[in-house]
Amino acid sequence: MRIAIVDRERCNPKKCDWECFKACPINRKGEECIKKSKNAEIEEDLCIGCGICVTKCPFDAIKIVNTPEELDEKPVHRFGKNAFVLYRLPIPKPGGVVGLLGGNGLGKSTALKILSGSVKPNLGKPGEEPSLEDISGLFRGTQLQEYFHDMEEEKRTAYKPQRVEEIPRIYEGEVKKFLEDTDERGVLDEVLDRLSIENVLDRKLDELSGGELQRVAIAAVICKDADIYYFDEPSSYLDVYQRLQMGKLIQDLAEERTVMVVDHDLATLDYLADTIHVFYGEPGAYGIVSKPYSTRKGINAYLEGYIREDNVRFREEPVKFDIRAPTKERERSTLLEFQKTKKTLGNFNLTVQEGELAREEQLGIFGANALGKSTFAKILTGELEADEGGPDREVEISYKPQKIDTGGSGRVIDFLTKVVENPYSNEFKNKILHPLGLEGLLENRVSTLSGGERQRLAIAVCLSKDADIYLMDEPSAYLDVDQRLRVAKLVQSVSSQNEASCMVIDHDILFLDYLSERGMVFLGEPGVDGKALKPGGLESSFNKFLEDLGVTFRRDPHTGRPRANKPDSVKDREQKKNGNYYYIE
Ligand code: SF4
Ligand code: SF4
Repeated sequence: MRIAIVDRERCNPKKCDWECFKACPINRKGEECIKKSKNAEIEEDLCIGCGICVTKCPFDAIKIVNTPEELDEKPVHRFGKNAFVLYRLPIPKPGGVVGLLGGNGLGKSTALKILSGSVKPNLGKPGEEPSLEDISGLFRGTQLQEYFHDMEEEKRTAYKPQRVEEIPRIYEGEVKKFLEDTDERGVLDEVLDRLSIENVLDRKLDELSGGELQRVAIAAVICKDADIYYFDEPSSYLDVYQRLQMGKLIQDLAEERTVMVVDHDLATLDYLADTIHVFYGEPGAYGIVSKPYSTRKGINAYLEGYIREDNVRFREEPVKFDIRAPTKERERSTLLEFQKTKKTLGNFNLTVQEGELAREEQLGIFGANALGKSTFAKILTGELEADEGGPDREVEISYKPQKIDTGGSGRVIDFLTKVVENPYSNEFKNKILHPLGLEGLLENRVSTLSGGERQRLAIAVCLSKDADIYLMDEPSAYLDVDQRLRVAKLVQSVSSQNEASCMVIDHDILFLDYLSERGMVFLGEPGVDGKALKPGGLESSFNKFLEDLGVTFRRDPHTGRPRANKPDSVKDREQKKNGNYYYIE
């Protein structure tokens, strides 16, 4: 099937004088393959897929794509004419967590909304309301047929939305009242304790940090008495410790209820899911849902980029996690040293052991939230002054803070022009814009960008400057797995081309493992006492960090990726006994 997508945000016929309409060869023959409406409208039945309109459109508003030949099924849902199409649905299954994995724009959230009953599937015919018989007919002979029948009998569903920051706009009150109102199962006290959020009960929802709001939203959903629970990106804003706490709680819920989780943190998904559906396709155009795999096979199929059953390859090169030689063995000169550093901010004390950063090395920085990682970054950049110690010399640091301020009402191109001489140059396009997928966004207003688009813009700005060190605070936030891997590769290549080093603070263990040569761990008591250890080998740093968390990881033999062991499994017990919390061999 040929799919024509017209991005309504970008399509602007007043400015382009209907370039696509005039250039389409079918239109030139007298038929209306492209129609003039408020936006361009493309008749997919007439389109021959020549792609001329795609190249003629000055605003990158058209996509013409073919679905894989093997796909011989009707769609489940289409948002509108020339809009995104979803094929198949994941299968909610009791007795374990069903994980959904795939890039942004492939329909994961749409699938959850359909399964939770908030969007009625139109079977690819926008504007029509198919009957229950039509819907269950599409899924005849599968568990989904029964599922949609059960939904008619009012199965109760609970849904944790992706964008928790919107909750305070809907509910203005105190956390305590908000949670008490949802506690239909009488489990609130236990959930508060297990998510460590007892201390936020007296605050208002709009006073919470992202991580607190996320945990409150998860608690509210778990407290509801539902048959099926959906969690859309529950790891956002959480540190590794909180991700594991959340994962264990969701696993326990799945022992008695049906649970489905979408997430981009592969280590978290690996830890909490029992089966995985992979979403693949063309972002923003169409998404296809794979059959359910075991968690290991599903994540490996995703990294391999190949869905055997559908005979579809969606990634040119498989993703492999190489174990790289530590920096010391590469004999590089020291770029920066820092003395034992101390800083007190209110009731919080930070102590950083002395250490150094080698030229051209990639240092991963990790630890729980509120242990002073961002404070340390600000001391390095000079934004904060250390009470004692600090860096031994001034070096040029290009800094991407955790909170992204892309303020103002200008366009992306205006924003880039402030830091790059010629953002339209081929060099800049190939080096930065293309790997970050920003080429098509240059004319967009910064204020209209999604969280992931803003993050990629902030990374582009950081990497566009000449610097000795690229210092990034949580660059993986809001990005999907592929974007995270592309950012890791880009950071490595830019720092190598510029003979610079990079320091990356993050909570995604796979992202850090993929990117870093050495590690720096922050331990201590969040909000009270942060202690940063001297930077060391990646495995020994992860080992200390994971020992502190009481969690073990091993390497997947096929992809080399770190995998969390199930708590109290044979491997978990064996590795703990030998002190190998981060097992390399
Ligand atoms: S799709 Fe592009 S070329 Fe066609 S009307 Fe819209 S902006 Fe103009
Ligand atoms: S791909 Fe070719 S045939 Fe199809 S709408 Fe565009 S210009 Fe017309």
